[in-house]
Amino acid sequence: MDDYDKLLDRARSQVPEDAFKRTGERFQVPEVQLIVQGNRSIWQNFQEIINILNRPGKEVLKFVSGQLGTAGNVEGSNALFNGKFTSELVDEVLNRYVDSYVICPVCTRPDTEIVKESGAYYLTCSACGARTSIRPV
Ligand SMILES: [Zn+2]
Repeated sequence: MDDYDKLLDRARSQVPEDAFKRTGERFQVPEVQLIVQGNRSIWQNFQEIINILNRPGKEVLKFVSGQLGTAGNVEGSNALFNGKFTSELVDEVLNRYVDSYVICPVCTRPDTEIVKESGAYYLTCSACGARTSIRPV
């Protein structure tokens, strides 16, 4: 019986919604790993991060390179930018993306999706059902 209770406890603690409600933790995105090679900056954990964000790489790349004011492209699991940038800067830009296009402003959970409807973009949240109007990337 004890074991069964423990199992039940563990199962409950694995439900992310409960975990969020209990701790109020913010969505954690890994730090950007970036190295400068010659005149280019290579974002090495690009693929890993976009998988976590659950957003198309193209879109994230477009936003980040636009904010950096440079050109960027994806090569394998890396993103490459022309010019020398620091991981701190790219981190900061990425956080701006996450705040605007991933985190639901109503419940602060990341369970969102970008939906296009009659030419307008919305961030829809599957956790709380909120629909927030956003600007396209
Ligand atoms: Zn929400």
